[in-house]
Amino acid sequence: MLSLTDYLRLLPKAELHCHFVSVMRLTTLRELATAHDVLLKTDDLDALLDYDGLPDFLDVFNAAHNVLTTGDEIARVAYEGVHDAVRDGNLRYREYFVNPDNFTSLGFEYPSLIDAMTDGLTQAKRDFGVGFRIVAAINRSLPPATAVEMVRTVIAHPRDAVVGIGQDDLTPELTEDPLRFREAYALAERHGLRRSAHAGETMNASAQNVVDAVEVLNVDRVDHGYRVVDDAVALEKVAASGVAFTCTPHSTDMLSSWQFTPDHRIAQMIRAGLPVTFATDDAVFFKTDIGKEYTVALPAMGFGGAEGARIARAGFEAAWCNDDEKHELLGEVDGAIAALNAAWKGDEAR
Ligand SMILES: [Zn+2]
Repeated sequence: MLSLTDYLRLLPKAELHCHFVSVMRLTTLRELATAHDVLLKTDDLDALLDYDGLPDFLDVFNAAHNVLTTGDEIARVAYEGVHDAVRDGNLRYREYFVNPDNFTSLGFEYPSLIDAMTDGLTQAKRDFGVGFRIVAAINRSLPPATAVEMVRTVIAHPRDAVVGIGQDDLTPELTEDPLRFREAYALAERHGLRRSAHAGETMNASAQNVVDAVEVLNVDRVDHGYRVVDDAVALEKVAASGVAFTCTPHSTDMLSSWQFTPDHRIAQMIRAGLPVTFATDDAVFFKTDIGKEYTVALPAMGFGGAEGARIARAGFEAAWCNDDEKHELLGEVDGAIAALNAAWKGDEAR
């Protein structure tokens, strides 16, 4: 008989909000940092992951880029990240945010960065059957013109794996300010790229940021989006749009100290019927994994197996792979959920 924890862990998962370097094993980070003389703020790997707010975390996140010096190292990190997520939470598909501007200064031009990631992820797909796509992330700490230039680079070097744009980092003022990047989003839309934006996450964010992302940037998905529940009118607008949300429970605990309770904003989003999916955001650096997002956060927020299965399925529904691949993945997922339901004696999956 399966426990609820096992049921939630074994659900097939699509993760749509995963910043690439954050799948790096800590042992690999330390090994590469030593090999390339990159100074980490401490050698104590536990202490390395204690942050004083989002900007402090971003310092570590940026340092993790600096240990990557060759395409083979990038491919290795990509491969190991899939291996770990299959073990931890039955990952079946993942989309990776990668920020090309962070890699340019390390000597990787955009095509070589994407091709190295694709090498590692293709090998992992052969070994573990996990599908993938890549999403080019706008570095919000850089000027809007740099974002436009990044989108131009993506358009100039088409790759099958790269399907859209998203974001990372924060503006220099530590705000989200989605409208700052509207030109980059319009350009991406004109060229058929899918679009997501980080909105409604931080202390300085508001429900209006989420509405702006949906209505002005015309995003296909919102990353985070939590503050939308603070305003009933905004919530209604966004719900009517049908836009899906990639919610990352452990990051809200890590960065905002939000407890996993039925009052958590993500729980409110689920109860409001928004298409919520679960992801890790920065798995290793937030001491989480795709399994824990379900097994720890969901029950504490008052949800059971049926919601877990719905949320897991929503991840595949909101994926940016092509229709054939999505259809195939959903077929596998539905078969796996039916088998898990049959094996689980709990009431909630009935
Ligand atoms: Zn994120």
